[in-house]
Amino acid sequence: MFCYQCEQAAGGTGCTKVGVCGKDPDIQSLQDTLIFGLKGIAAYAYHSKELGKSDPEVDAFMHEALFATLTNVDFDLKRYIDLVLKAGKMNLKTMEMLNDAHVERFGAPTPAEVFAGTKPGPGIVVTGHDLLDLIELLKQTEGKGINIYTHGEMLPSHGYPELRKYKHLVGHYGTAWQNQRKEFDEFSGAMLITTNCVMIPKESYKDRMFTCGIAGVAGVEHLEGRDFSKVIDKALKSEPLKENKVGTLNTGFHYTAVLGLADKIIDAVKAGKIKRFFFIGGCDGAKPGRNYFSKIAELVPQDCVILTAACGKFRFNYNDFGTIDGIPRLVDTGQCNDCYSAVKIALALAEAFKCSVNDLPLSFVVSWYEQKAVAILLTLLHLGVKNIRLGPSLPAFVSPNVLNFLVENYNIMPTGDPEKDMADMLG
Ligand code: SF4
Repeated sequence: MFCYQCEQAAGGTGCTKVGVCGKDPDIQSLQDTLIFGLKGIAAYAYHSKELGKSDPEVDAFMHEALFATLTNVDFDLKRYIDLVLKAGKMNLKTMEMLNDAHVERFGAPTPAEVFAGTKPGPGIVVTGHDLLDLIELLKQTEGKGINIYTHGEMLPSHGYPELRKYKHLVGHYGTAWQNQRKEFDEFSGAMLITTNCVMIPKESYKDRMFTCGIAGVAGVEHLEGRDFSKVIDKALKSEPLKENKVGTLNTGFHYTAVLGLADKIIDAVKAGKIKRFFFIGGCDGAKPGRNYFSKIAELVPQDCVILTAACGKFRFNYNDFGTIDGIPRLVDTGQCNDCYSAVKIALALAEAFKCSVNDLPLSFVVSWYEQKAVAILLTLLHLGVKNIRLGPSLPAFVSPNVLNFLVENYNIMPTGDPEKDMADMLG
């Protein structure tokens, strides 16, 4: 923990109080929550800005909220709670801005079946979150005989018309970011890392890995100005990949595509063919206990639909969940920022059934790992969403009193035993 009073690591030289220097632990907890949320918002705002969009209200809030975390500025608990909830509101605005920027530049996503595995020939796998990097790479590799693969959070790229029109965007390779060391070790081509969520590389592939944009790894070559000639050259000189199909993945269920099925979905709910929706989304990671999310997905009854976003879905999205009256049972809205689509779908369902989101047959099961997931959780709280199950553990920066506040006002729950949780959600 970092001490706000003496600005050194807790317990460091000169620290006599080991940690909080007498500071109210709830204020500290809310300040930490705010800082984590701001980091998440900053990531989405950065991508938006790269695509030419920004919002003065979001920028002003970032300054206000960061300023409010300075020592002794304000010890009013209520004001910090309001700021934390406002961060959720600003994150919603930022996700909307990024959604709009993506749609304007790459077209509105539509459902796509994606080849998963590798095809014969030279290849580059692209991981991270940055679609602009991907389109530039696609342009620069066109006609060069190199196959381009997405990895992790880049899977939703296949839903965008302006990206999938490139025939050499051949498919998806691997799963989520924490498996990079194994998966990249087995990938004979080159790798391009566009954002965070990158594992320290093994020596076996370090020289075939390149970072760009915001990403950086010590000892790995960083490419500037979206000039991808070095990674292209590396792919051409590396051992070609072999044919290896491991499955098919689905993505591209942007809210506009799902709302195109609204009548069918509403009819299926009214006829009792769809009993409940489960949002199972968020970050993945290596921490034990994350198989909770795959177990929950497996336990979802056949007459229920799963909505996903972010990389936690790789724990179960290789499975075939089938359809209900032609409606897919696994609906991937996209990257973590595409939780915006999930929110739009939930709000549209609430409007159609003339009830609140909390009265819908909809359960939220959220996995968190890094700051964007915190920002998304704050957005759900800002929208008044209750009964969220959060795991695999509660954030360490949530103090007991702040947790009480979340339980009393939102009935937020830690993930527990999957069977019991599922029985509880099914009522
Ligand atoms: S969903 Fe979260 S953990 Fe996964 S790649 Fe995106 S930011 Fe990283």
